[in-house]
Amino acid sequence: PAGLYIVATPIGNLGDISPRALMVLRCASRIACEDTRVTAKLLNHFGIKARLTPYHDHNAAAVRPGLIADALAGPVALVSDAGTPLISDPGYKLVADARAAGVNVVAVPGPSAVIAALSIAGLPTDRFLFAGFLPAKAGARASAIAELAAVPATLAFYESGPRLAACLADLLAGLGNRPAAVGRELTKKFEEMVTGDLADLATRWADAPPKGELVVLVGPPLPAAAPEAADIDSALRTALASLS
Ligand code: SAM
Repeated sequence: PAGLYIVATPIGNLGDISPRALMVLRCASRIACEDTRVTAKLLNHFGIKARLTPYHDHNAAAVRPGLIADALAGPVALVSDAGTPLISDPGYKLVADARAAGVNVVAVPGPSAVIAALSIAGLPTDRFLFAGFLPAKAGARASAIAELAAVPATLAFYESGPRLAACLADLLAGLGNRPAAVGRELTKKFEEMVTGDLADLATRWADAPPKGELVVLVGPPLPAAAPEAADIDSALRTALASLS
């Protein structure tokens, strides 16, 4: 049926594509994607022939009306290079405008690096805040981190290898030491999940930046240590003494 289908694709392991994603990609009259070479490779692997339309920050405004018109008439899919579209990837304005134009917008959910990382890091997941990529410039990054310091939730970031050590050092400076985890190359051959606290992790890659794609997770603020009974007694005694 007609509509805009937001289709998640693998973040590394091609086995993670869903049967429903394949069916939608096979049936779509058009597939909007970030980089046609990346999506063509995925489609070739599954023997799917499709009309690809590049959709990225530089041409989005020009391409959007045509995609919306087509989605009113038949199935149009949006994919990104990897993972779930709109999650640190293009598509938000397309979805908003498509909804406003009365298009049926349909999720075809699947992999996303942030969810994969949260699911295996062993940090609290009852509440998390996904903060995407931190700003590259040191000053802007420090203020972005300061805004998150009091958030009572696990924090999740996307980061690149060359910036990881600086990112972890800034997180330590801005948030204090907390349990943390770095997920690398998830679902791929060299997948790893390194856990520790921010102080350990900040020194681990200081000399050699890791290769590949990364998710950084930081646990929520630690509860202030409860005072010991003996401390309360002595504080009460001091207070009483000062009254007499
Ligand atoms: N839309 C994607 C998703 O749903 O995960 C994210 C797109 S964002 C432009 C790309 C970033 O996601 C990478 O720089 C990296 O931080 C993270 N990422 C993507 N694939 C990953 C993987 N296999 N392992 C760890 N992080 C990954």
